[in-house]
Amino acid sequence: MSKTKYVYFFGNGKADGKAEMKNLLGGKGANLAEMTNIGLPVPPGFTITTEVCTYYYANKRTYPKSLKDEVMKATKRLESSVGAKFGDKNNPLLVSVRSGARASMPGMMDTILNLGLNDTVVEGLAKKTNNPRFAYDSYRRFVQMYGDVVLGLKPTHKDEIDPFEAIIERKKKERGVHQDTELNADDLKDLVNQFKKAIKEKTGKNFPEDPIEQLWGAIGAVFGSWNNDRAIAYRKMYDIPESWGTAVSVVAMVFGNMGETSGTGVAFTRDAATGANVFYGEYLMNAQGEDVVAGIRTPIPISKLADENPKVYDRLEKIRKTLEKHYRDMNDIEFTIQEGKLYMLQCRVGKRTAFAAIKIAVDMVDEKLITEKEALGRIEPDQLNQLLRPVFDLKEKSAAVTEGRLLAKGLNAGPGAATGRVVFNAPDAEEWNKRGEQVILTRIETSPEDIRGMNAAVGILTARGGMTSHAALVARQMGKVCIVGCSALEIDYSTHTMHVNGKVVKEGDWISIDGTTGEVIQGKVATKPSEVLQVLIDKTLDPKDAPIFRQFEKVMKWADKYRTLKIRTNADQPDQASNAVEFGAEGIGLCRTEHMFFGEGKIGPMREMILADTLDARKKALAKLLPLQRADFEGIFEAMKGRPVTIRTLDPPLHEFLPHEEKAQRELAAQMGISYEKVYQRVEDLHEFNPMLGFRGCRLGIIYPEITEMQSRAIFEAAANVQQRGIKVEPEVMIPLVGNVKELVGQAKIVRQAAEEVMKEKGVKFEYHVGTMIEIPRGALTADEIAGVAEFFSFGTNDLTQTTLGVSRDDAARFLIPYTQMEIYAKDPFEVLDRDGVGQLMKIAEEKGRSVRPNLKIGICGEHGGEPSSVEFCHMIGLNYVSCSPFRVPIARLAAARAALSYPAPKQSNPRDLKRAKKPATKSTSKGMKRKSGR
Ligand code: PEP
Ligand code: MG
Repeated sequence: MSKTKYVYFFGNGKADGKAEMKNLLGGKGANLAEMTNIGLPVPPGFTITTEVCTYYYANKRTYPKSLKDEVMKATKRLESSVGAKFGDKNNPLLVSVRSGARASMPGMMDTILNLGLNDTVVEGLAKKTNNPRFAYDSYRRFVQMYGDVVLGLKPTHKDEIDPFEAIIERKKKERGVHQDTELNADDLKDLVNQFKKAIKEKTGKNFPEDPIEQLWGAIGAVFGSWNNDRAIAYRKMYDIPESWGTAVSVVAMVFGNMGETSGTGVAFTRDAATGANVFYGEYLMNAQGEDVVAGIRTPIPISKLADENPKVYDRLEKIRKTLEKHYRDMNDIEFTIQEGKLYMLQCRVGKRTAFAAIKIAVDMVDEKLITEKEALGRIEPDQLNQLLRPVFDLKEKSAAVTEGRLLAKGLNAGPGAATGRVVFNAPDAEEWNKRGEQVILTRIETSPEDIRGMNAAVGILTARGGMTSHAALVARQMGKVCIVGCSALEIDYSTHTMHVNGKVVKEGDWISIDGTTGEVIQGKVATKPSEVLQVLIDKTLDPKDAPIFRQFEKVMKWADKYRTLKIRTNADQPDQASNAVEFGAEGIGLCRTEHMFFGEGKIGPMREMILADTLDARKKALAKLLPLQRADFEGIFEAMKGRPVTIRTLDPPLHEFLPHEEKAQRELAAQMGISYEKVYQRVEDLHEFNPMLGFRGCRLGIIYPEITEMQSRAIFEAAANVQQRGIKVEPEVMIPLVGNVKELVGQAKIVRQAAEEVMKEKGVKFEYHVGTMIEIPRGALTADEIAGVAEFFSFGTNDLTQTTLGVSRDDAARFLIPYTQMEIYAKDPFEVLDRDGVGQLMKIAEEKGRSVRPNLKIGICGEHGGEPSSVEFCHMIGLNYVSCSPFRVPIARLAAARAALSYPAPKQSNPRDLKRAKKPATKSTSKGMKRKSGR
């Protein structure tokens, strides 16, 4: 058996490794090898593999036996390649020791520069370069880094300044200078001595003079930094497994600090913020790498290098082109200029904003660098949010933060930016809005009764609740900016004030909320609608004047070309429906009829219906509701112009529609001509201990069939009327919360009977379907029986998650946040579909359902329908469509296309693939799921 190779050499135009070996060599090691292979000027070196890191941790911080020999051989090879020797005072080899994991973890692990210097070698270096200042500057940096990273001289508490910086500051004061660059060789020599003394005093350790000992110390420290606090926190945030480990690259030093013809810089091959095809970066002359990133000196824009050193700039420009052509992506690079000669120290695919991601992808297709399919893979679906939301003027926002106006942070439930005056209840929001005021509805939590107030507000802010809380759900559907779960808000409804971290905000005060970041800011910050919305929704901008829109549109067209899932929307108002169509929705997947009852003039008859004692009285109230509902449905059918519309019969517990305060109950009693006591009693009677598992869903229509009858009539009469106006209709009636086929049988019969009657009465024919939601486990497990009656299924994964996990949507925030932190659930299961639990039930339902009805149409309408990882799962198990709130439609389109490209055969035969939850692109921010029933 051949021995495992742990060390990969690169230098003089040839490398053992290549770009594809990232898992083994880390991003840095693999790309140093690749750049060497393609002829770029990379200083020689070698990379110790990530397998050594894994071994190191699995074996009490020791190395594989053969490593020492391999490292020493590579060191010899490096010496002959550079033509210098470790520890040679006339011609010393100096190296950097760098970390580099498979995924980039910028600044999280440690690096050591100028290794190989000691008291003798530094003198040799000074002589050889005829530059003592440079030699001692390098030595001072090395002792400082080594002392910190390897020997552990660090600040001991958070208020202490770095001990090395403290010594430098003292020295500068003593010499009466401000910049490090003003210290001369003697000063720097003295600093080295002071550093060594401090190390010995505080850590008891001697600084090693032997370069080989230094090397092994540095290698161990870099492997050790894989498990420092920063790296651990970063891995958690971005789902990087601990098992990956880091590689260590040992690279011959090139020096940016050799004087005014030397320098160092970092750059992106295109603008990482806007995507513009310009060279984008910064550099510093007479400096080493960390000076640029650490902000000690202000770096200079790369464009200036063209004037200062056109030869080097031209070379860099050529390298920029070579890298883009080779990697076929935007790259982020690090370079050093040593006495006018350019060296590449790093390259990797660069991180970018959504705007940049789209522009770069579209431009690169135009430039024939990548294909459309690849372009789709370059844009994270969730990033599209950034393109759709109004935006704060970033300069103004950071000025506000600097002024101390940041009040608190909550969950970023509805991305975008909104500025308005604080109101603490929904009626005030409406009233103020009518007066022309811009308001932020600020509540402890919201309920369905707040719907009109929410609609009137530019933004919604709540102290409680999570990502599927009522506020979040409705806000997204409306496209409102929304922050939920902002627990620092102490709201006092009685005084119309709130206390936030020691500040008082009163009704009418201006605040600004950034739903993209969750920041709540005191006072105004200017916003503007996104370009995409100005074109699609407001229609105030011509696409020809909207370059960002045109790129967006192009990407959406590509997505539509490759996706196989259809995309629908959850909408219950005509304007929401038409917005969704503009965003590309191909139908309505969920129209929650209960939201309509809170519209103008409907809540009265609804309450009468609920309070009715007799069937007659209930029917009378329902008769008042019928024309109102019919008008709503007509509006929806018209907006959808022949696209399928799934309308769900009444779902929430009835008590949600009733007034709970005495004043409102008295008003209702007067309105209905009955006693206050009777109203009070009925509200009390309807109280349930656990309404989510109580009298709701199809149970309402089963106990009160006249409700289903009225709703079916309203739907079909609307369908007939609209069809008679020449607009095609395709109604689908959906029965919620079915767990037993017998529940569906009776309800389906009522619906079908209403359809047949209406068609006969109106003399029109239209296609309609009756189906059910699958949202409780028994429904999924008996899906074959249910499919005997249902023509379609729609997974209500909000309830299916709640009932499968036994976790209440209303009450889970308190433990679900710690649960996700403890990784009991990797992500909030109300935000990212739990493939192993809920997903398996969906799979069972899909298989059982189609075993009896092969052409069964299946979709999803829970909040997961607009979340990329969940959309991928829906594609994999062969659903026909996903349905999500209007503003998530573009995200779902892109996510569906990416899923289709990753899994060309939609139904995966390998169950392990299904379980392999691809990590969602963005980090989860939802840590709770108050639902407050009304949704
Ligand atoms: C669901 O449960 O997933 C669903 C869509 O219904 P609601 O959120 O209205 O309960
Ligand atoms: Mg439900």
